[in-house]
Amino acid sequence: MTERLVIIGSGPAGLTAAIYAARADLEPLVVEGFEAGGQLMLTTDVENYPGFPDGIMGPEMMQLFRDQAERFGTRFVTADVQSLDLSQRPFTIAAGDQEHLAAALIVATGASARWLGIPGEDRLRGHGVSACATCDGFFFRDREIMVVGGGDSAMEEALFLTKFGSKVTVVHRRDEFRASKIMAGRVLEHPKIEVMWDSVVDEVLGDDAVTAARVRNVTTDQVSDVPVEGFFVAIGHDPNTSLVKGQLDLDEAGYLLTFDGTATSVAGVFGAGDVVDHRYRQAVTAAGMGCQAALDAERWLESQE
Ligand code: NAP
Repeated sequence: MTERLVIIGSGPAGLTAAIYAARADLEPLVVEGFEAGGQLMLTTDVENYPGFPDGIMGPEMMQLFRDQAERFGTRFVTADVQSLDLSQRPFTIAAGDQEHLAAALIVATGASARWLGIPGEDRLRGHGVSACATCDGFFFRDREIMVVGGGDSAMEEALFLTKFGSKVTVVHRRDEFRASKIMAGRVLEHPKIEVMWDSVVDEVLGDDAVTAARVRNVTTDQVSDVPVEGFFVAIGHDPNTSLVKGQLDLDEAGYLLTFDGTATSVAGVFGAGDVVDHRYRQAVTAAGMGCQAALDAERWLESQE
């Protein structure tokens, strides 16, 4: 059986595409992967999604998106996609122990957290090193914590971690945050947060668990071992395009290129959300692109039938 539309990814882009496609009677199949819900599952309060004046927790919001998609007949497969064949139609999607055929495809695979690539980071992951404060912050009650990064993610992680840690040190490689003014302001004013400017971490120290981070000031070259037990990396993301590499056109940074709305370099394949967009990367913009991709896919399918 050939599905009319398969959507890979279940963040705001994939699930919004599913809502629109399902309401257009395309009976979409969403391959949601084992990290279902995407990056919002790793976030805390979402205060900037319109319609939630009191804010909403990221995972709760994604459950609402999913319920809404399901209500109109979206089907879900919980498996990571192993391979895609976009060289002929219908497209073939291998996920888990099944192969799915699709007349049209929406790629909404999002982006994943970036790591520093320093000694100790990989070895101590899960033993004090994390990229998800929501997941792991709880373990560092009354401990000292470090957060690396200067964007909104780093601000959000640092502020959230103040609920647990006795002290939170933010290490940023420049002398100014990239984050929005409101988020940066909250960090700078927080009594539990200290900022180390112009600084990078060269190594995470500890045998079985993190005990300190080796921090180097890039202007003075002075090195100090800062005792911390939690080490959170919040330095941005990379697009999840390994499945489509070599089959769809990507930009220099590896993001999926779209033309004329959400069309990709292969007819019948559309892209939406953070896998395409490295500029805005917001839940609401991803949802908007998911809507566009579903409308584009619907029109394209009509033109083929
Ligand atoms: P980002 O804005 O790209 O910031 C990444 C930060 O990490 C930058 O400060 C960057 O430093 C630093 N960095 C990158 N590579 C590094 C390395 N190898 N070593 C040390 N530092 C490094 O990413 P983000 O914070 O994940 O935010 C992404 C998008 O999501 C943004 O549009 C943001 O507004 C949005 N967001 C919004 C919220 C919210 O509103 N609640 C929360 C989270 C994210 P430089 O500044 O020197 O480049």
